[in-house]
Amino acid sequence: MHTTRYSLILILTLLFSPLSAQDNQLPPWEKGDLDIHFISTGRGNSTFVLMPDGTTLLIDAGDLNSESERYTPPVPDRSKTPGQWIADYIQQFHPEKKNGTLDYVLVTHYHDDHIGNFTPQSKTDIKGGYKLSGITEVGSIIPIRKLIDSGSDFRPLGEKGNSYLIGQLEEYRKFIRFQEKTNGMAYEKFRVGSLSQIKPVKDHAAYPDFVVKNLFSNGEIAAVSDSTIAIRKFKEGDLPPENDLSSGIRISYGAFDFYTGGDIPGIGHTGAPDNESMESLAAPVIGNVDVATLNHHGNRNSQNEFYVRTLQPRVWIGQNWTIRHPGEEVLRRIMSPYLYPGERDLFTNALHPVNESYLGDLVKHYKSKKGHIVIRVYPGGDRYDLFILDDSSAERPVVGSYSYKSK
Ligand SMILES: [Zn+2]
Repeated sequence: MHTTRYSLILILTLLFSPLSAQDNQLPPWEKGDLDIHFISTGRGNSTFVLMPDGTTLLIDAGDLNSESERYTPPVPDRSKTPGQWIADYIQQFHPEKKNGTLDYVLVTHYHDDHIGNFTPQSKTDIKGGYKLSGITEVGSIIPIRKLIDSGSDFRPLGEKGNSYLIGQLEEYRKFIRFQEKTNGMAYEKFRVGSLSQIKPVKDHAAYPDFVVKNLFSNGEIAAVSDSTIAIRKFKEGDLPPENDLSSGIRISYGAFDFYTGGDIPGIGHTGAPDNESMESLAAPVIGNVDVATLNHHGNRNSQNEFYVRTLQPRVWIGQNWTIRHPGEEVLRRIMSPYLYPGERDLFTNALHPVNESYLGDLVKHYKSKKGHIVIRVYPGGDRYDLFILDDSSAERPVVGSYSYKSK
């Protein structure tokens, strides 16, 4: 009797004793794994990719550098800036920890929630003389080997240009020039259609079924079946919105496909037809994928019907930072069984409480509404797991996990 009671107590204790953060860490990355980390800061996008050979790629590092009740709260807290938290996160999960470098940084476009916001109040890097925020702050902590962006097409810095971008780009380019000269960083313009501009640089030969395709940039869209440019949406003299100029890539590993494409729009809410939008023009070259990030953070002008029907992802990832993310109609479209059959799961780094209340019943579609999100694709690409890491502490323990088969 006593023994039974003791056993019962022991079992209950084991079941309900809280695991320490250390016991519950993300299993370490191993050679052959593809890890895609959606880092939660509450202040814009940042995605850290660890390729199967250990090559590293960072896509964007946002920092709004301002406060508003319309923003999601900064996480884990204000003791570091978003750029510093992103660097801290990378150093935790980089195989070389604090000695790690970033083989590639891809900047999708030049808005603050993707590169940082440089204000007169921003701290200045003493040696480089450039303002520290977002990507320039990460790059001042972790050395960057190669930085890729869309260049200056359609972005004249004269009087016709977007005045907000002028100051932004000045600081960002000061950072690039300094890193090129002082730290040997290479700078390249995004090459639309390329299958090799971003590649495993440590052991390329070992992973022939791992490919990054450069899909679009500056409104130029690659052909579906080769490396040529199939569509040029803009012509010289045009001044398109910055979001339309975003660069997008597809990462394929065996049967697994992942897409991310900055802030391209899909709904012509200022009068242009949807079928002329970047989403509609790019959907065929993106193709059917396993995991997709929501374009433009799920803003209401994104994820049009044709686009959703074409991609049909099993997993949608939201990178939200404001009350507008996501739009109600966007949720209805991406979850609609009329647009594509079968199950799909939805995750986000954050959801603003006012939008959560506004969305009401639709919130049930979220598997998780908070935290860092990690996709781990296992060797060969047939299977992947999705982990949620607690973003309220610097230890980042695992608080949820899901398993999937690639399509
Ligand atoms: Zn954005």
